Amino acid sequence: MSQAVHRASWELPPQPSGTTDVSDAASPANAAGRADAADTRPVHAPRIAIIADDEDIGRLLLAESVLARGLTPQAFDNGTAALAAALAAAASGELAIVLLDVDMPGLDGYAVCRRLRAQAQLPAVPIVMVTGHEDSTAVTRAFEAGATDFISKPVNWSLLPRRLEYILRNAAAARALAERVTQVRTLVEAIPDTLWVVAPDGRILWSPNAAGPQVESLAPAEQLPQVLSAIRKTAQDGVQRRLQYRESGTQSYELRFSRREGGDVVVVRQDTSERTAAAERIERLAYFDPLTGLPNRQRCIETAEALFAEADRLRQSVAVVYLDLNSFKRINDAFGHSVGDAVLRTVAARLMHALEQCRRDGAVSSVARFGGDEFVILLRHADVRPLADEVAEACRRAFLNPIAYEGLEFYPAPSIGVAVYPDDGPDVATVLKNADTAMYQAKSGAARSVAIYAPAMSSRLRDWLDLEARLRHAVQQERLALQFQPKFRLRDQRLVGVEALLRWCDAEHGDIPPNRFVEIAEDSGLIIELGSWVIRAVCRQLAAWQARGLALPVAINVSGKQMLHGDVARVVEAEAAAAGIPASLIEIEITESLLIKDSATVREALERLRALGCGIALDDFGTGYSSLAYITRFPPDRLKIDQSFIRQVDQSPRDAAIANAILALAHSLDVIVTAEGVERPGQLEWLRARGCDEVQGFLLSRPLGARQLEQRLLTEAGASPAPASTHAPGS
Ligand code: C2E
Ligand code: MG
Ligand code: MG
Repeated sequence: MSQAVHRASWELPPQPSGTTDVSDAASPANAAGRADAADTRPVHAPRIAIIADDEDIGRLLLAESVLARGLTPQAFDNGTAALAAALAAAASGELAIVLLDVDMPGLDGYAVCRRLRAQAQLPAVPIVMVTGHEDSTAVTRAFEAGATDFISKPVNWSLLPRRLEYILRNAAAARALAERVTQVRTLVEAIPDTLWVVAPDGRILWSPNAAGPQVESLAPAEQLPQVLSAIRKTAQDGVQRRLQYRESGTQSYELRFSRREGGDVVVVRQDTSERTAAAERIERLAYFDPLTGLPNRQRCIETAEALFAEADRLRQSVAVVYLDLNSFKRINDAFGHSVGDAVLRTVAARLMHALEQCRRDGAVSSVARFGGDEFVILLRHADVRPLADEVAEACRRAFLNPIAYEGLEFYPAPSIGVAVYPDDGPDVATVLKNADTAMYQAKSGAARSVAIYAPAMSSRLRDWLDLEARLRHAVQQERLALQFQPKFRLRDQRLVGVEALLRWCDAEHGDIPPNRFVEIAEDSGLIIELGSWVIRAVCRQLAAWQARGLALPVAINVSGKQMLHGDVARVVEAEAAAAGIPASLIEIEITESLLIKDSATVREALERLRALGCGIALDDFGTGYSSLAYITRFPPDRLKIDQSFIRQVDQSPRDAAIANAILALAHSLDVIVTAEGVERPGQLEWLRARGCDEVQGFLLSRPLGARQLEQRLLTEAGASPAPASTHAPGS
């Protein structure tokens, strides 16, 4: 028992809730010394030994023994002087040991010992009592006074130095340990982590962070069972474990469990909120589109993978709805990226709203921005096809109203393709590709803007790619041909010119309509080469006709890309000069949409063509923007009313009104009007009655080969002017 008290004076780290008077008394000193306690300096070895004995011989022998241990003795014959000297030595940090005779006049040994122990600076200094009494009462009193050890009289002087050495070594070890404990404590306090030592059954044995900690301090109640099980397992197998949990949304923690020697478990709790927040930020950057806040392509693909796997388990299907904006690039080019960004943000919001409206029980859905103007919606549901139809339709409707931005209005019409896993492909890549294919199908079909994937589409797309390669060869090897469709003046029904129409007969696919391959040529950039070839071929034909005394104006169709990038005026000038024909025999047909761009390039090209003597015709008039302002700004020589208005012109009041308006406008500007696609006499009569200048169409002539045309011209010359009815369709 007494042994325990004795050891307590130096072994236990001083605590506010300390167990003995001794350590209580010591704690403030320790707190004061804590600032530099974490030092790694070697522990200082004090040198002074205070001796108090009223008997001279005892005092001398004690001093001798102390000297023998390499210490400096300060010996006194009374307690009062010894106490003062001990305090002074302690204050200078040099007090190594105190040896006190119990029986002294004045202050006896017990009193000196008690007073010394009451001093803050003396926690671990050994105080040895020299007792004259062997009885246990004296020993007990000595320990109660705070003594470290006792020597009983008569003293065995030969053994005393050994005894002292033992006591001093213990004291040094205690000092070093106390120092280390202070360092560790300071470290523990400096580390933001919380630490517990826990018994395998979950009892908390110790924690530097709290006095008498309860098991509840380890983690929130809902985590506690998991935590206790981790402690149990770690105590059993010694394997380190980690456990993470969140608290109140933003706070996150990690608990680490490791087994100590002896089987207890150390639990360290780290606040990982900041680290988690950083990880989440990184995830946002890697997985989300900063413009719209939607998941990006990468995240979309990963989500699709997860949904497909889940669909396998649940025996459900996943629909991929692929959406692309038809005219977005034009908006970006014309108004700049900030406007484009604003439009995309609105698009994202509208898609989310559309999806919201199609909620269905058990459905999982997500919208992602897949690329520039491409969005992908993923839907998982037991009956996903009707849901996908509904979503696609809601998306289409979401664009019926224009997007307004800073006084501008945009109509970014979507093309939407749908493919379904597992029906339309075994993996994410295939299903996405097929949804994309369906989307392209939707884009090419004029009226519909939604297409559901069908296997035939893939072969069609392959055909398309195949066609591009074939067309390239055809252009390089000049395996293309021109036909010429006559235009007739209505007044006298004379053939007044022709339009050159490109023909491509592919060895495998047969005749491919120009509407189809011109689009391919535009997409691939091949149109520049193709267009130049047409100009050259027309010039050669004109030269051949000229050689036979024929001067027939020829209209050439020039596509938008060619007009912008093909240097058409230079090509016309060069080819006309090379063929030796006047450029005034050439008319250039452009579409309205090109003019509306009002770009300097187009304007300049048109002016140069005019300067060469070329006529300018506006083709397919009425189908585009019909912005009449552009026409008044740059009046063409000819307007060609599109077939779509002529088809019903004698039957549909609406078409008749449009054709009438175009005629009135053109005539007010002195522009010649040509009606396209005249197939029936009724149309011809209507146009003649309204004063239309010229007509072109199957009724009067289909496009003809050069030979056939020459034939026709000869007939015309012989039998002029021929009535319309003699040129029946198909003749
Ligand atoms: P477009 O310039 O409007 O040419 C008139 C189209 O209407 C021609 O079709 C012609 O064959 C067709 N057509 C003429 N009369 C009638 C009719 O009474 N009924 C019907 N249903 N159609 C009639 P084609 O030859 O298939 O050409 C289609 C389009 O391809 C042309 O439309 C033109 O935009 C483009 N194209 C043709 N050749 C070239 C070319 O050399 N270069 C460029 N860039 N485009 C060309
Ligand atoms: Mg044309
Ligand atoms: Mg046309």
